[in-house]
Amino acid sequence: MIYENFISFFVFLPFNSIKQKIMDTKSEKTSLNFIQSIIEEDLRNNKNDSKVHTRFPPEPNGYLHIGHAKSICLNFGIAKKYNGLCNLRFDDTNPNKEDVEYVDSIKEDVKWLGFDWGDRMYYASDYFDKLYNYAIQLIKLGKAYVCDLSAEEISQYRGTPQKPGKESPYRNRSIEENLDLFQRMRAGEFKDGTKILRAKIDMSSPNMHMRDPAIYRIRRMSHHRTGDKWCIYPMYDFAHCVSDSIENITHSICTLEFEVHRPLYDWFLNELNIFHPQQIEFARLNLSYTVMSKRKLMELVEENYVSGWDDPRMPTISGLRRRGYTPESIRNFADTIGVAKRDGIIDVALLEHSLREDLNKKANRVMCVLNPLKVIIDNYPEGQTEELDAVNNPEDASKGTRKIKFSKVIYIERDDFREEAPRKFFRLKPGKEVRLRYAYFIKCVDVVKDPNTGEITELHCTYDPESKGGKSPDGRKVKGTIHWVSAEDSFNIEVRLYDRLFTVENPLAQDKDFKKYLNKDSIKILKNCLAESSLKDVKAGEKFQFERLGYFCVDKDSDNENIVFNRALPLRDSWAKIENKIKKL
Ligand code: ATP
Ligand code: MG
Repeated sequence: MIYENFISFFVFLPFNSIKQKIMDTKSEKTSLNFIQSIIEEDLRNNKNDSKVHTRFPPEPNGYLHIGHAKSICLNFGIAKKYNGLCNLRFDDTNPNKEDVEYVDSIKEDVKWLGFDWGDRMYYASDYFDKLYNYAIQLIKLGKAYVCDLSAEEISQYRGTPQKPGKESPYRNRSIEENLDLFQRMRAGEFKDGTKILRAKIDMSSPNMHMRDPAIYRIRRMSHHRTGDKWCIYPMYDFAHCVSDSIENITHSICTLEFEVHRPLYDWFLNELNIFHPQQIEFARLNLSYTVMSKRKLMELVEENYVSGWDDPRMPTISGLRRRGYTPESIRNFADTIGVAKRDGIIDVALLEHSLREDLNKKANRVMCVLNPLKVIIDNYPEGQTEELDAVNNPEDASKGTRKIKFSKVIYIERDDFREEAPRKFFRLKPGKEVRLRYAYFIKCVDVVKDPNTGEITELHCTYDPESKGGKSPDGRKVKGTIHWVSAEDSFNIEVRLYDRLFTVENPLAQDKDFKKYLNKDSIKILKNCLAESSLKDVKAGEKFQFERLGYFCVDKDSDNENIVFNRALPLRDSWAKIENKIKKL
């Protein structure tokens, strides 16, 4: 089973760095990461009047994923640590992919993670007028020109990393002509794709991004905020640095792929001679057994491989939330992995570990049986019920106890009984005793089967009335303890079990067709599970530990007739095992 493959993360991160990471997170003293070091140095030098101002700049073209959560925790976390501010800015310069649905979901996700942008929610599209004026300024400085080459010609002229590019024949147009053409581009005089505004930098630069990159293109397309006001739209590289500057961002933190864009970021700000934020790059988060790009996640949604962006198997924040993840578990995960300058893949087991640690403290224990097998206690009086005490959370005494009802007919997990059991099978088997959690010792005396199929239909057991509460009356040992529910005091629930979405650690590494590696068994729906009656009034989002089965979260699909539980995770914690191994070294 893929789930068991916990050693796999050694493939991705060198052993020492894992060890170090665990030591670091366990020890009280936390050393600075490289971004914090840069910021502290700036504060010491009184750069930016000792202010720290960051931003989280999502493009509203999909739902946020756990990679974005890392960036959110980093940007808002730094602002918090240094008494600074963090803006939420929608980077909406690309009208064809953006939508209000995504804006709303992004706001919800950032808030849910526990961060607050105050009154600083902005859109790059708010700056379209300013951006246009800055473009005019570049033209006036002789640093930008209107180019009539087609897209194909532009790419031919660009050259290759080994071969310098060729200058466009339109490169030396006069400032007046460029101003006139650019204004007419805006006025809608030219067809889409027939002209672009380009920065005039260096066609032989070893950095391809500096070979006269595009600043504005013509695109007749409605924008989700500005409607049809514009038919020209600024390119990301231009819009981003200028937006950062307009908002007085001091540290513009982004992912590594923008490192090669940094000279261009600096060039625009230097030429315009406006406030100059510092761009700092860190490695994006990659997680094993999943994909982390909005475009690819969108494919899974649109082609119905999952039920939506918030499908509990998705690595989206909304998917993780529905699955049962807590904001604290995600924030702790982000802290633990820290920031790196080199790309790597983090084992998803570390994320899961973080949730288990949190829910172990928070989630009340209850008993549910996923695959029920009827058990009749022969020597228990007909019609009698009694109330037994069960502990709500052994990690938290303040959660107290609850009453559970015991009666003649109970249900146990089908897997917890074996007719032909090996010696080390410490659950129920013919002639042997097992402890029912919080109840009694029972011994199996008879097995009833369907005469046609041979399937076991019920078990007959006897109980030891002296073993109430599961305590041994005479010192005799009973190794196994199993969970149960009583027929009288349980009700039907639906349970959805999940496995990894992909069958390989890095679905993108294999070949182009990542969907080939989708796990066909990533969801299993069980309709006839039985839950103790204390769960009758639960609400969507509530989380529990089902004893011996894992952590579960009430799904939004629940209604009065049918309560649905998602299994967030089974109890087995492969990361904790690794941690223990490391501690012993
Ligand atoms: P995707 O490729 O998933 O669409 P993106 O980088 O295009 O991601 P944006 O909406 O542009 O998505 O990203 C908003 C912010 O989140 C950016 O600053 C980006 O660097 C950061 N970010 C995106 N993906 C990750 C990731 N996997 N790890 C860390 N930060 C990320
Ligand atoms: Mg993007």
